[in-house]
Amino acid sequence: MALSETGTNHFKNYIAGEWIEGDSQVENINPSDTRDVVGLAVRSGGADLDRAIDAAHDAAPGWARSTPQQRYDILDAVGNEIIARKDELGRLLSREEGKTLAEGIGEVVRAGQVFKFFAGEAVRLPGERLDSIRPGVEVDMRREPMGVIGMITPWNFPIAIPAWKIAPALAYGNAVVLKPAELVPGSAWALAEILSRSGLPEGVFNLVAGRGSELGPRMIENPKVRAISFTGSVPTGRGIAAACGEHLKKVQLEMGGKNPLVVLDDADLDVAVGAALNGAFFSTGQRCTASSRLVVSEGIHDRFVSALTEKLKTLVVGDALDPKTQMGPVVDEKQLEQDLSYVEIAGQEGGKLAIGGERLTLEKPGFYMAPALFTETSNDMRINREEVFGPVASVIRVKDYEEALHVANDTSFGLSSGICTTSLKYASDFKQKSEAGMVMVNLPTAGVDYNVPFGGTKGSSFGSREQGRYAVEFYTTVKTAYTQP
Ligand code: NAD
Repeated sequence: MALSETGTNHFKNYIAGEWIEGDSQVENINPSDTRDVVGLAVRSGGADLDRAIDAAHDAAPGWARSTPQQRYDILDAVGNEIIARKDELGRLLSREEGKTLAEGIGEVVRAGQVFKFFAGEAVRLPGERLDSIRPGVEVDMRREPMGVIGMITPWNFPIAIPAWKIAPALAYGNAVVLKPAELVPGSAWALAEILSRSGLPEGVFNLVAGRGSELGPRMIENPKVRAISFTGSVPTGRGIAAACGEHLKKVQLEMGGKNPLVVLDDADLDVAVGAALNGAFFSTGQRCTASSRLVVSEGIHDRFVSALTEKLKTLVVGDALDPKTQMGPVVDEKQLEQDLSYVEIAGQEGGKLAIGGERLTLEKPGFYMAPALFTETSNDMRINREEVFGPVASVIRVKDYEEALHVANDTSFGLSSGICTTSLKYASDFKQKSEAGMVMVNLPTAGVDYNVPFGGTKGSSFGSREQGRYAVEFYTTVKTAYTQP
């Protein structure tokens, strides 16, 4: 099925090897230009979900017996096609989500790389052997697929997050039911379309679009689904964890962040400002790893704030598909209202707005906002406790490294953290004492590699890590086999 790059597409569900209509349809709107309907997306109810789960359940044993070479060939081909079509798919992604075209293309390439990485993992799944404590007995430990994996994904990485769940699931022999976020049905559909032509047996991969509040609980309750991989907000994740506990279902949650970027007096100012600009405002600040708390020591504070403010003055906000744009729109009206409400809250709490924070009216009707920077904030303000998930960052002035470390760790989240310093001593200490799952030195808190684990601590993550070789923990179960030859 060809993708229309400018016209309205029809995004259907993919169940048991067939393209299926849903119960109703919703418009997929371009946040850069709300007159542009990217697609009509089907919305399914529980019956379609049940059929998808049945199909996955029927297909799972056959796929579990497929050879590593078969899995390698399919995943590698999927990865190659995604990368070959990066411009077209990147355009679709930016058109429906609002991140800049360069970011959209970059995300598509990342999705392709993930498939190719897990193609390789399929042919090097290790087992273990130990000597038994009993004479003459052999013991080996093997990893086996879980069965049917249910996946629930957010809107901010519409192709990369589904990719980094689907690819390891398939590589290790599982069947999949994906429920993508309502706001970005196009990228999930495009990925499903590639998978539908990849040689995967019918039913191994299924796509069902619909309301999370309806399909999510139903997916978790279904005994044929053995595990749930979720990425999204903390409140949704908390509910999913509770329901999975009730049904004794394996669960993995990747959720929000309030990621600190520490800037010390001895930092290279350009590096620090670059890291803050990228970390806080790229992808319109809509990244779980966004650097939303800038924890700056007093010797560099004023220079840092003024250099970052200068950069923000010239940051080009506009249509995601315009190559001149450096920051695209917010994803939708509701998220924009949330972002603006936090600007108001931060002001009421005593934060000083250095720049931005207002809704922008541009030539095209869209959800545009000027990137906001607050100064003179303290770590107990709501702006520094709660995830905004938009282009809003706040500066917290601290005395020295010790106070910076304390502030960085004083949060209920623990996804990513960063430090800008030229001191090996502080960098090394921070890597050890930061309570986040990912620590960056002289780099933005966002922007990660696909071949290493991704995930956090505290309220940011639950269950085993995603990505890299560590993904094997979630997508397999271990069998211990004893043999008396
Ligand atoms: P969300 O929690 O609103 O929705 C995520 C998914 O859950 C969607 O597919 C939605 O339909 C579904 N859902 C909604 N209600 C449900 C329910 N009751 N049961 C089951 N599923 C349900 O999150 P969002 O607004 O799409 O995404 C933004 C959030 O995602 C932010 O908090 C962000 O930090 C987080 N995020 C985290 C990571 C990470 O890896 N840690 C990555 C990207 C985004």
